[in-house]
Amino acid sequence: MSKTFLFIALAMIVLAVLGLYVAFRIFKKSMKLMTALMLLGGAVVFIGIIAYPKRARIKREIKKVLSLKDKVRRRTSPTCDCTWNYSSLKKDEFTTMHKATAQRITNGMYLVNEKTRVKWINRGKLLPVEEKEGFAIAKLDYSKAYLTAIARKRLYELGQRFRQNIQEPDEKMSYFVVSSVTRTQVEQAAICEKYPRACTKDHSPHSYGVAFDIYRIVSPNNRCEAGSKALEKVLQQMQAENKILLCPESRCIHVTVRG
Ligand SMILES: [Zn+2]
Repeated sequence: MSKTFLFIALAMIVLAVLGLYVAFRIFKKSMKLMTALMLLGGAVVFIGIIAYPKRARIKREIKKVLSLKDKVRRRTSPTCDCTWNYSSLKKDEFTTMHKATAQRITNGMYLVNEKTRVKWINRGKLLPVEEKEGFAIAKLDYSKAYLTAIARKRLYELGQRFRQNIQEPDEKMSYFVVSSVTRTQVEQAAICEKYPRACTKDHSPHSYGVAFDIYRIVSPNNRCEAGSKALEKVLQQMQAENKILLCPESRCIHVTVRG
């Protein structure tokens, strides 16, 4: 216990005694009230003396309670990772279907680097993608929000039909999040360096501006079932309509637009 604290505690006790004495002398009639106040002051000082040596522990306990609250809040955050059961989604073969289709429908418009991307943007072959009904775009680190006209059209369609497929009225505001859009070969190489196992080394459909990844669903009520079901259904429908190709990956669903 520090000397300063002892001094303050002693001073408070002395003051309390003095106050009691003055109260006895001056306010004889309201003595009971004054006594009660003095007792209260004494109790505060007493608790202070007891609690002071344990202040570090008390601080720790308070912190613990606060962080627990934080954890609970995080657990109920209205976001669901894209890790539902994919068994119902049919995977299209990556090289013969995804890669070959990307190359074919773009006439080989392959994005080597930023310069190539700017060239295709300036020529109107790559169009900016905005957040529309049913989906949001995550902060993009290794890609940019551009797609070819047909790919953009299909993404917008996917968002709309996703919303239409949600049955529960209070889940209607759910949306899915797109985590990756168009990547140049340079960005693709950077991502391969970071995640060597989950990476297409060359001629990724993302480098043709016709692919995007979906990685989570956000539900306003922290329930993902309705959104997951709706997304699965619309993906299957559009796959059957020969509009998109699918490749469910460990952390996301890869979509290549087919036509
Ligand atoms: Zn992908």
